[in-house]
Amino acid sequence: MTKFALTWRYASALLLLAALAGGSYLFLDRSMDLERRRAVVIDLSVRQRMLAQSVVILGFVADRAAQPSVRDAALGEMQGALRELLSIHARLGSLQIGDLAPPDADSWLESTRRLDVFVNTARTVARQVQAGKPLSHALIIRLHETGGLELLAGLDALLLHHQSESGQSLFLLDRLPLAFFLGTLAILAFMGVMLFRPLVNDIVADRRSLEIANEELGKLATVDCLTGLFNRRKFDEVVVREMELARRYADHVSLLMFDIDHFKTINDTLGHAVGDKVLADLGRLAVTSMRSVDYVFRWGGEEFLILAPRTDDHAAFGVAEKLRQTVAAHWFSDGVRLTISLGVAEYRPGEGLEDWLTRVDQAMYAAKRGGRNKTMAG
Ligand code: GH3
Ligand code: MG
Ligand code: MG
Repeated sequence: MTKFALTWRYASALLLLAALAGGSYLFLDRSMDLERRRAVVIDLSVRQRMLAQSVVILGFVADRAAQPSVRDAALGEMQGALRELLSIHARLGSLQIGDLAPPDADSWLESTRRLDVFVNTARTVARQVQAGKPLSHALIIRLHETGGLELLAGLDALLLHHQSESGQSLFLLDRLPLAFFLGTLAILAFMGVMLFRPLVNDIVADRRSLEIANEELGKLATVDCLTGLFNRRKFDEVVVREMELARRYADHVSLLMFDIDHFKTINDTLGHAVGDKVLADLGRLAVTSMRSVDYVFRWGGEEFLILAPRTDDHAAFGVAEKLRQTVAAHWFSDGVRLTISLGVAEYRPGEGLEDWLTRVDQAMYAAKRGGRNKTMAG
């Protein structure tokens, strides 16, 4: 997955989370505020209801009062209740806007009208009682009807409306934590599937290709690129261990060194490219002629070295002779025929690597001096 796609997915998941958290916060904040204001409206409506009932009762009390002081007290309270009723109505009007609007504009106008009718009736009652006139039966009924029935019916409708709105909002609030939890889970699942899984796959794939590249590099560092044979670095790695094994277990280990006879002539007559192909051919031929436990190295330009574990000088000589004959009988690239001169030397316990190499090198040069296409033991 590209860096851009990864960043994009990560950013969208974070944005989704932020939107979920922000949306929940806004919803909660708005709902709380609305509920707070709704509670005030409900409280005022209930209060208005109580006041209307007290006005009616105080009207009757004032009418029936035997003593003027009781009558005046009832009338005073009635006037106070009427003023409060009106002021609460004004407050309710100013609160009931926007989200807290009454069911419809007409119902509010209607309740205002009913309140006016009731207040006027109550004031007429107060004036008559004050003037010492007994209330007519019709006025008593009217006070009861306008305040006790009509106004209360309007107030009840308003109350019910706000209570039902509040119920709906609480219903949504109740489900908010679950919705938030499920939303978060969905986003986390999205992140898992769309982000972390491809990321882990990428990391695993990257690590695997790094391992492969490392293996390749390791091989390249120890392999000669023209012939595919091991190089001197590999020789340095393995020879120490083979010498130690031979010493420890009193075993045999031998070196075979060989060099192409008159290779310069091949290069000179057929060209360097053919010379290269011949070198690669000879490398392959040497590897297939030896045991799989033997190591074949390209030692220099057209010089090769073989490390043969568990092989004494006698066996090494036999192997070298066999290889010499195989090479002499082989047709190389472009019909080239060639011979090689070999030296063999078994490791002598306690001997240093340099000495061992010198012996095998000298043996090979002895073979050259002895007429080439020969094997000599060192
Ligand atoms: P001798 O029998 O004494 O070994 O004679 P020679 O010609 O084989 O030996 P000499 O040392 O005179 O020449 C070795 C030649 O091998 C010279 C060099 O150009 C050639 N050579 C070395 N490395 C390479 C290589 O990688 N590719 C090719 N094509 N030639 C190489
Ligand atoms: Mg040579
Ligand atoms: Mg040479």
